[in-house]
Amino acid sequence: MPMYIELVKYPDVFLRTKSNPVEFPLDEKTQRLIKWMYKAMYQHHGIGLAAIQVGYQKRMFVMDCTRSQTNEKVFINPEIVEKSEETLRDNEGCLSAPGKSGDVRRHIRIILKYQDENGKEERKTFYNLEARCIQHEMDHLDGKLCIDYEKGNYSRDKHKSQTMVESDFRTKSDS
Ligand SMILES: [Zn+2]
Repeated sequence: MPMYIELVKYPDVFLRTKSNPVEFPLDEKTQRLIKWMYKAMYQHHGIGLAAIQVGYQKRMFVMDCTRSQTNEKVFINPEIVEKSEETLRDNEGCLSAPGKSGDVRRHIRIILKYQDENGKEERKTFYNLEARCIQHEMDHLDGKLCIDYEKGNYSRDKHKSQTMVESDFRTKSDS
């Protein structure tokens, strides 16, 4: 039996924190973390996973939208440099918020700038599901969750009230 990988889950406030840029060359620990993230993504049957979901505030995520378990890729220090005007609203789930979902409006085409494991800078266009998945993972890097969206749009107030509930939860469970 493969080792079960526990994910950081809502309402853990750690998911609300901003991740930090990754430095190159990658140290051995970060290289192992990337392999760990592939394993976690496949084990939980996801198509994408951000480092914060396994407990690390690093600006990187992994993705495989083919579900073939052979097309895994890592995106380090990603940045969306261009997005289509055309958007689409769709229901999204998250491995860190089981049983919950959000109606999220996303750009249907984006151009992403990122670095690979070797620090090589890439620039690529993504469409539809991959573009949606990337925008979802990019939200994780900034402490946002798909369940924060209301009627397609990111809701700051919803985020705020959740943060209050969470810190209250923290206080009570700590005492
Ligand atoms: Zn997610």
